[in-house]
Amino acid sequence: MASVLVVEDDQFVRSALIRHLTEAGHIVRSVGTALEALREVAHHAFDVVILDLGLPDLDGSEALKMLRGITDVPVIIATARDDETETVRLLNAGADDYLTKPFSVEHLSARIAAVLRRSRAAAADAAPSSVIQVGGLAIDPLRRHAELDGVRLDLTRREFDLLAFLAGRPGVVVPRRELLAEVWQQSYGDDQTIDVHLSWLRRKLGETAAKPRYLHTLRGVGVKLEPPRTEPGP
Ligand code: CA
Repeated sequence: MASVLVVEDDQFVRSALIRHLTEAGHIVRSVGTALEALREVAHHAFDVVILDLGLPDLDGSEALKMLRGITDVPVIIATARDDETETVRLLNAGADDYLTKPFSVEHLSARIAAVLRRSRAAAADAAPSSVIQVGGLAIDPLRRHAELDGVRLDLTRREFDLLAFLAGRPGVVVPRRELLAEVWQQSYGDDQTIDVHLSWLRRKLGETAAKPRYLHTLRGVGVKLEPPRTEPGP
């Protein structure tokens, strides 16, 4: 089931579409001009828009451009013209699919289902599931964004990599050798490199080696990151 906006000025085509889509279980609203369509998408959330290209007020590509200025809702173009150049141009301008009139209800339903599958998969991908959360730390490796208690941390590339690697294994003591290999991509190196970066990172996290909150160094063993223990009140 989807919420569909039908933009079609031909009364006959329009009522046929409404009837078929409603029978297929969709919730349908419909308008007959591009400007009404713009008003609709500005006020309601649709899963898909079926846009007729031959509207009385605006050229189809103009209408599509204006729609795209307001919303990224999937748009299926319905065109009477079997004009390949025009179709390609509209797909490039942000249409998700197209149908050449006359089209069957089955065809339209299949296109709607395909567009919905794509947009729902894209929405699932965009979900912030990749954010690593440890205590007040939030690290998004994809966007290379790190926050502590809601405040963005200004980290160098290496500091970010180090923090993200440790935060991905909270509470686990990571041997220095592994840090060198994974964060520095070196099979050997001196401990000082790690120590220097750890101390910079600590400073940005507002802690010290003597009074650690997130970053804990276990001498001769490695480093671990874990959420701070709740401190007793003053
Ligand atoms: Ca028309």
